[in-house]
Amino acid sequence: MSTLMNTYGDRALTLTRGAGSRVWDDAGKSYLDGISGIAVCGLGHAHAAVSRAIAEQADQLLHVSNLYNIPAQKSLANKLCTAAQMDNVFFSNSGAEANEAAIKLARKYGNDKGIDTPTIVVMKSAFHGRTMATLTATGNTKVQQGFEPLLPGFVRALYNDIAAIEVLAAEHKNIVAVLVEPVQGEGGVRVPDSDYLAKLRALCDRHEWLLMLDEIQTGNGRTGKYFAYQHTDILPDVVTTAKGLGNGVPIGACLARGKAASVFGPGNHGSTFGGNPLACHAAEAVVDTLLGGNLLAQIAERGEQMLNALKDKLADNDKVVDIRGHGLMIGIELENPCLELVGKAREKGLLINVTAGNTIRLLPTFIMTIEETNELINGVVSLVEEFEPITE
Ligand SMILES: *Cc1c(COP(=O)(O)O)cnc(C)c1O
Repeated sequence: MSTLMNTYGDRALTLTRGAGSRVWDDAGKSYLDGISGIAVCGLGHAHAAVSRAIAEQADQLLHVSNLYNIPAQKSLANKLCTAAQMDNVFFSNSGAEANEAAIKLARKYGNDKGIDTPTIVVMKSAFHGRTMATLTATGNTKVQQGFEPLLPGFVRALYNDIAAIEVLAAEHKNIVAVLVEPVQGEGGVRVPDSDYLAKLRALCDRHEWLLMLDEIQTGNGRTGKYFAYQHTDILPDVVTTAKGLGNGVPIGACLARGKAASVFGPGNHGSTFGGNPLACHAAEAVVDTLLGGNLLAQIAERGEQMLNALKDKLADNDKVVDIRGHGLMIGIELENPCLELVGKAREKGLLINVTAGNTIRLLPTFIMTIEETNELINGVVSLVEEFEPITE
C-alpha cells in the first residue's frame, strides 16, 4: 500500500528531468510538454534565469518570516503592480490561497460597509481551488461532494451571462463582489464574449461591488498579455494569480487597487511562507523574463497560429464540437468523453490534458520552436483523427 494519500489516483508516468519544452521519464523516453505542469512552467523547464535566481537566493537567505522586511518581496511587488496596473499585493503559496485572500478581502470590504452577511457572485463551471472557501466558490459539484457543509456567502450565475447576475442583484442585497475567471480553464477552456469583462466592470461599478478576477491560470503571460484583462480597457479591483508566477516555485499573489487596496490592515491576513525570499526572487526572474524582449507578443502570435492550424486541420472532423482558446490556452471540445487520449498522447511522446471530460486542453510552454509547435499540433490532430469514442 502506498504511504501517499490516494488523492491523485494511479499515475502512469514518472518524469525525472526537463529542459526547455521537453521532459524525460525514468526510462529515458522524451515527451514534448503541451501542458507545462498545468500552466506553470511557461518559460519551460530548467530555465537558466529562474534556476540562477533560485541558486543565488538559496546561497544567501531562504526564509526569515514576515516578521521582517523582505527586499525580494518588495521588489517583486513593485514589478508585479506596475505590470498589472494595481496598487498593492499580498503573497501566498498557491492559487487557492490567493483566492482565500481575495474572498476574505471581499468579506471585510462588505463588513466595513455594514453588510454583515457579505455575498460573492461566482460562476457555474468555475474553478477556484480546493480549500473550503475556494471549493465552495468552484462551480463543480464533483469538487464539492463529500465536503459539506459548504460555506455561506456565495451565489452563482451562468458564465458569460450578465443578465443572470442582474437577476441575482435584484434578489440579494448583500452582494459585495464578483469573482470570475477571464477564461475558464478547468471548466473547459471557455472563452467569454469579448465585452464580458467590460460589462462586468460596469455592473460592479453600478452596485459598488468589487470585480475580482481569478487569473491564476490566465495570468503571467498565458493569453499573450501579462494578465488577460489587459486585452480590454478595464481594470479589476482585485486580481489573483499563481501557477505561472514562479515557473514551478510555489507562489501566489492577490493584487488590489483603489478602495480594495486599503481593506486589509495589520493582523487581517498572513502566511508563514507567503512571499518568502526564495519564492519572490525566483518569481522576479519570471516577471523580468516575461516582460523583457518580445515574449508576450510571441505568445499571442503563437497561440493564434496554433488555434488556426487546429481549426484548419480538424475542420471536417465530426468528432469535434468546438475549438477555442486565448493565447497559449487552447481547448478542443469533442462530442464524447476523451480522457483516454491522455494515455494515447503519452505513447506518442506528448503531454496533454483533458478537462471537463471531453475537452483536450493544451497549455504549451511559451518557448516552443516552430518545429515543436508543429509536432504538438500534428500529434494532437492525429490523436483526434484516430480517436474511437465508446458510444454505448
Ligand atoms: C489552478 C487554479 C486554482 C487553484 O490553484 P492551486 O495553486 O492549485 O491552489 C484556482 N483558480 C484557477 C482559475 C486555477 O486554474
